[in-house]
Amino acid sequence: MAAKKKSVKLHRCPTCGMLVKFDDEDFPFCSDRCRKIDLGKWAMGVYKISSPILDPEVLEDLGGLGSSGGNGDSYDE
Ligand SMILES: [Zn+2]
Repeated sequence: MAAKKKSVKLHRCPTCGMLVKFDDEDFPFCSDRCRKIDLGKWAMGVYKISSPILDPEVLEDLGGLGSSGGNGDSYDE
């Protein structure tokens, strides 16, 4: 009784989630249509990484550095 292990690797179309064969001519997409849809997303900037680096707290720290000038202890008479 040998357990028949059939390891079929499956891939899903990133656009519609349909199963795509690895030897499909449109791999990794299920069809040319989905490939174009995905390209369209790129073109529209959906996948664009736009994370603001300017953190309000960081800006505050930078601004506060210059305001610590006088210690107050020593003043001339
Ligand atoms: Zn698809």
